[in-house]
Amino acid sequence: MRLAQSSRGGWFSPLFLMITVIMAAALGLGYYSYHSAVQLAESSERSVESSNRALGLKLIDRIEKVIIDGDRTFFRLVRLDDPKEFKELWRRIVRVSPAVESVVVLDERYEVVHLVTRLDPHRSRSFRRRFVNRILPDMELDKLPPNQHRHLHKEYDGRFYLLSYIRRQSDEGDYYIALSVNIPYVIRDTFRAEFKELEETNRIAVMDEVGRVLYGQRIALPSRLVFEERFPTTLYKWRLQLAPGQVTSLARGARVRRLTDLVLVGSGVGVIWLGMLVLFVAARKERRANQLKSDFISNVSHELKTPLSLIRMFGELIALQRFADAETGKEYAEIITRESDRLTALIDNVLDFARIERGKADYDMELGDLSRVAERVCELSHYRAEQAGVTLRTEVESGLPEVAFDESAMTLLLLNLIENSLKYGASQGEQVVIGLRREGDELRLSVSDSGPGIPPEERKRIFERFYRGASIRGRSQRGTGIGLSLVKHIAEGHGGTVRAGGELGKGAVFEVSIPIERA
Ligand code: ADP
Repeated sequence: MRLAQSSRGGWFSPLFLMITVIMAAALGLGYYSYHSAVQLAESSERSVESSNRALGLKLIDRIEKVIIDGDRTFFRLVRLDDPKEFKELWRRIVRVSPAVESVVVLDERYEVVHLVTRLDPHRSRSFRRRFVNRILPDMELDKLPPNQHRHLHKEYDGRFYLLSYIRRQSDEGDYYIALSVNIPYVIRDTFRAEFKELEETNRIAVMDEVGRVLYGQRIALPSRLVFEERFPTTLYKWRLQLAPGQVTSLARGARVRRLTDLVLVGSGVGVIWLGMLVLFVAARKERRANQLKSDFISNVSHELKTPLSLIRMFGELIALQRFADAETGKEYAEIITRESDRLTALIDNVLDFARIERGKADYDMELGDLSRVAERVCELSHYRAEQAGVTLRTEVESGLPEVAFDESAMTLLLLNLIENSLKYGASQGEQVVIGLRREGDELRLSVSDSGPGIPPEERKRIFERFYRGASIRGRSQRGTGIGLSLVKHIAEGHGGTVRAGGELGKGAVFEVSIPIERA
């Protein structure tokens, strides 16, 4: 008998290829959309970043310019011709110009010639000491070319100093002028005046090198939208921070947008993938169902053809009286009867199956003794068993209660189980046992053989319609794959269950449970 090959669902089928291509395309599209969204967000962030940076650099430049221009103006005023006049002039300048804290004039041996300051006498003395001992060596005057203007920005004893100094030449020799800038004034006035307008739409902070805030509030955001740079020439120990006023919400918005894009694109791709997987599974299922159906049709036609050709052949032999003696003639007639029985059983099976498939199966339940059915089916199958050299035996517990069942359905169920045992299970000389016993509120009807048994992984699937065991597929074993699905339907129609058990290699046991309370 030829059995149609069961399809494996084709991993390399055109459908699988198409689904793979669609999934890959979805992934590619998803990546592309996410990438473009990120790039778009990046480019808008970049433009905010670059305009913020330009603004920051301009601001730094402006402050430096204010300081340097102020220093130059003061330097231009220094005239040493008349020491008395110098002192007087500078006392006035220092008094009216809050940006200058002190002015020191040094001769070419770096000796202090003049020192004018707005500090009180006590602080003035300590400034002079600090200037001579600590600030002066740091100014490196020996490396200063004539008319060069330099800055020294440094912390001494916890206080920042900004020294602006220049080397001048005169007939009497070189001299040096050093202005000590009034730093609190720079912070309070210069910064405030320069930042005022910008602060309406921006956040500004100035910090020293260890992060102490000197002006404004530190912008503690690790965002590229925050500009941070040192003052290059004058206050070079300090850094300026500048960010758009809405930097926090901009940064949060960018983060949220990125996350939303990722979630949207990810879920879009996920939905497509899921859809494709569902389609793939459904297509595989459909393909398998179709394959099983066509297997079934070819198996049924074969099942019909075999007994019919036997009936025809032995009928013709009898008609032509081509047999040696009456015994042989009887044997031929018995073959015809047996094959007709097989045909009837097959047609019954197919018709019942068709009824079940149409959802039209209903059972004619009547209270009765199930053991009678067991005994009768045993008798019916006796001839078939004898031919196979197998003994059929019943083991029926005594005193079993009556249950409600449909007699012809139960007969069909048992016939199918016994037929399977004879077909797949018992070999010549072995026996098939039909058991009936009570187990709690159930009657257990069982058919056991000592054949190869059923692999555990197939114990559920063999009850699916058209399913045939892997070990018999491809072998010329008669069958249609609907017997056990009928058994299952009948058992469940009686409010019961059926399960396949036994030990692989030692035999199969099919056990049908019928509830007693339905009686
Ligand atoms: P069919 O017998 O026409 O193949 P069934 O639905 O009756 O269809 O059985 C389904 C499968 O279950 C069989 O193909 C066979 O592989 C397995 N099977 C059924 N009964 C037995 C048994 N007694 N021993 C081993 N395998 C069995």
